Amino acid sequence: MHRRLIAPGALAAASLLLAIPASAADDRPGAPGIGDSYYPYYGNGGYDVSHYDIRLTYRPQTDELEGTTTLLATTTQNLSRFDLDFLLDVSEVRVNGAKAAFTTSGQHELEITPARALPKGTAITVVVRYSGVPSTKSAYGFSTWHRTPDGAVAADEPESAWWWFPSNDHPLDKATYDVSVAVPQGTQAISNGTLQSTVSGPGTTRYNWRSDKPQATYLTTLAIGRFDITTGRTSSGVPVVNAYSKDLGADDGAARASVERTGEIVDWLTGRFGPYPFNSVGGYVPDTTTGYALETQTRVYYSPRQFAGGSNTSVVVHELAHQWFGDDVSLKGWKDIWINEGFARYAQWLWSEHEGEGTAQELADYVYASHPAEDAFWTVAPGDPGPDNQFDIAVYDRGALAVQALRNEIGDEAFSAVLKGWPKKHAYGNASVADFRAYAEKVSGKPLAELFDTWLFRPTKPAAPAAQGAAVAQRATAPVPPKSWKRIEATNDVHGG
Ligand SMILES: [Zn+2]
Repeated sequence: MHRRLIAPGALAAASLLLAIPASAADDRPGAPGIGDSYYPYYGNGGYDVSHYDIRLTYRPQTDELEGTTTLLATTTQNLSRFDLDFLLDVSEVRVNGAKAAFTTSGQHELEITPARALPKGTAITVVVRYSGVPSTKSAYGFSTWHRTPDGAVAADEPESAWWWFPSNDHPLDKATYDVSVAVPQGTQAISNGTLQSTVSGPGTTRYNWRSDKPQATYLTTLAIGRFDITTGRTSSGVPVVNAYSKDLGADDGAARASVERTGEIVDWLTGRFGPYPFNSVGGYVPDTTTGYALETQTRVYYSPRQFAGGSNTSVVVHELAHQWFGDDVSLKGWKDIWINEGFARYAQWLWSEHEGEGTAQELADYVYASHPAEDAFWTVAPGDPGPDNQFDIAVYDRGALAVQALRNEIGDEAFSAVLKGWPKKHAYGNASVADFRAYAEKVSGKPLAELFDTWLFRPTKPAAPAAQGAAVAQRATAPVPPKSWKRIEATNDVHGG
């Protein structure tokens, strides 16, 4: 997989004779993957990105995208070459100002060979010029670029960047972003963070967005279309920016009645998880036919279908909870998906309790009782579900059940301290399921290996319900769902694509 430029043995001896500096002996290519156990080619090795400057022009009618992305990075090894993950057509690459050679390999690798090798610990600037029609590009036989009647949307998990900007595409390498997009006049471009300015040119408007806190590539979003933009503030002063397609039709009212409650829900979540971690918040509802929603950082993506059955604040709670659990504290590897989804689902249960539509305990009882022991539901281990089951319903429902089991084990006081302390402990960083267990053990002073093993890792139904005295779990008849269940269930295709 890794081609060494300098072969061992005779060739190495020859290089010494040529008096190549000692460091050149260990110049080698960066790995084509960052080391994720589920997705071996996602992300790359050899460097760490600190900032992306993405400057684009997009034509909705033809889906033509052209632009320049500038990456600021630091090398983490002596590098002879390195990869970015990208699918569009590249016309030029420069590294530290000088033209670099480039080629493509694998499903989504852009291999860049700088004119001179880069020593470990060097600050580098990489400029990539490109163009293309994103909807014509695919990797592994799929595309996550969604064209809409009035534009396009990039919002998917775990991959969405390949179709619009070159990146080190893995949550382990977070960076800050400036995203600038020129679109035809009358069309809007939505992205993460704050709208710094809009600049009008002949027939076009350029939208300049800024995300000033570390952000994962899959949480970086772009939507182009005809939007109505609303603004407000949370009680603590965080600016709220929401955007609604002008063509939501019958779903328009229900979408606004849900997403316009963003400020209220952020205030409520702040009471549970601590201060909101970013400089802006909001969501957008484009004119798509997809069914899911996604926790894109500071600007949540909602499919109109989430509101087809009426308003649904539960999905807003889920995606905003991710701003703490998933965005602020991101997973280390995709196998750690429970530290995102277990808690976002559990937040929906807490919201149900808040709204008087069933307590978290009642919801836990219901989930436990409604899946008999022979149900395949129990064969999925939320703590390491495997790439094919990464977004299985068990990661959500069994995952939230595990959170309730933890709450029962350590008591409300320690549980609340864990929920508030965790985002602070790993702020703007990455963590694993094992890190969470260690943290919960430290805060509660209780050994939790058996509890985590039972609820997150064993492929069988736990013998005792998470609920202490869970009457519903013992009944022979079908369990009765709490009032909130239907709304929570309606959010199940949250990542279903
Ligand atoms: Zn989620």
